[in-house]
Amino acid sequence: MLPVIALVGRPNVGKSTLFNQLTRSRDALVADMPGLTRDRKYGHAELHGHRVILIDTGGITGEEEGIDWEMAKQSRLAMQEADLVVFLCDARDGLTPVDEELAQELRQLNKACLLVVNKIDGLNPDIALPEFFAVGLGEPAAIAAAHGRGVSLLGEAMLARLNLEPVAIDDEEGEAAEEAVDPNRPVRMAIVGRPNVGKSTLVNRLLGEDRVVVFDHPGTTRDSIYIDMERRGKKYTLIDTAGVRKRGKVFEAVEKFSVVKTLQAIEDADVVVLLMDASENVTEQDLHLLGYIMEAGRAVVIAANKWDGLDNDQRQLIKDEIDRRLGFADFARLHFISALHGTGVGDLFESVHEAFDCANLSVSTSKMTDLLEQAQREFQAPQVNRRRVKMRYAHLGGHNPFRIVIHGTQVARLPIHYQRYLVNFYRRELKLVGAPIKLELKDSE
Ligand code: GDP
Ligand code: GDP
Repeated sequence: MLPVIALVGRPNVGKSTLFNQLTRSRDALVADMPGLTRDRKYGHAELHGHRVILIDTGGITGEEEGIDWEMAKQSRLAMQEADLVVFLCDARDGLTPVDEELAQELRQLNKACLLVVNKIDGLNPDIALPEFFAVGLGEPAAIAAAHGRGVSLLGEAMLARLNLEPVAIDDEEGEAAEEAVDPNRPVRMAIVGRPNVGKSTLVNRLLGEDRVVVFDHPGTTRDSIYIDMERRGKKYTLIDTAGVRKRGKVFEAVEKFSVVKTLQAIEDADVVVLLMDASENVTEQDLHLLGYIMEAGRAVVIAANKWDGLDNDQRQLIKDEIDRRLGFADFARLHFISALHGTGVGDLFESVHEAFDCANLSVSTSKMTDLLEQAQREFQAPQVNRRRVKMRYAHLGGHNPFRIVIHGTQVARLPIHYQRYLVNFYRRELKLVGAPIKLELKDSE
């Protein structure tokens, strides 16, 4: 399970700024994800070699009414879900009465906490910091989030609070460590989606089919429920975020939707089945979930549920909408299903298997390099600063996500459109369905 870290504090102390600093990925997936980065409240961050889930919160004002009340409620929920609460204050405002109230609340929470004083830029820390010792949460970490100052040290302090050691990432070694996937191990398949799209109905359907053998899984967690099953001689572990449990003869949902739970499930899966509701439009939340899946680099199958009961016009409408808004994930198989009636449900397994196999495909360095040369013959790489970019060789850097590492001169400056071309070229030639591809460009000069 990934550690969960919540950022809390008054509005305007710099929580979103810090969130963005920490979640900004060095080498984002080459994909057009319009609008996905705005208004993000949850994200994956990498702190010195450890992946964590980060929650940004709206802020607590101390005068909780109306929208403030809702914001405070969300913040408190995040605090409950977190393993570590990072409490931000503003060095320019100094310690305020609301800060003190919040500190009091945090001390009572009995959870790992870290006090951070932001906006230290232009101030003398010796003068600005001492008053913050008084809140009784230990030594404050001073940062300037907007300038990235102190953020790396803060990352270490966060890990220390979680009892984790920083891990040095040795790139070359990471590339060499190509873990072989045991073809007989169960495919871990997570069912995710926003509330009411039909997750529990689908899980029930998957478990209820008489060809399915369900095994008891010892040590179910408080989070998702893991169910081992077998279908047509193939093994799966169903990661059920809806929390369907067997109660007597029927399975029923016992838990509410939680983003953290969903993110954990995505992280833990080989293949994620993203369930949507075809009787409604594609929502922001659907897009966000898809964004998280791609960010985590997991293979994905998309299923539009509740296909029953829609007339042809409605069906066309939702198909167009999916094309338009989920175009950035057009490498994933799309199914139209009815979890309620079971229509199309069996076919999901075929796509899950295909995505799993694609994500774990082994390709030799010579084949990867051949393809790189072929791609350049078909469409020459552009010049950068009047010099042609020279791509020398390519190799597979790892699975989940499928990583293509390209070495050469000036390659790090390849324009984004050419990077996309390369990704699409490899996808087509290697017939990679359902698996996101990440491109890594390494200058050898
Ligand atoms: P939030 O409401 O806590 O999420 O705060 P924001 O991240 O939106 O930041 C509030 C304001 O503080 C914005 O105008 C930021 O540009 C500014 N800010 C954030 N971090 C720093 C910093 O390190 N130094 C300074 N001077 N300003 C900052
Ligand atoms: P969850 O919150 O994602 O677990 O969603 P549920 O499985 O609880 O389903 C929410 C509602 O949608 C329930 O009333 C289900 O009966 C209904 N539902 C689920 N799947 C289908 C479907 O394929 N067709 C129709 N018409 N309704 C469905």
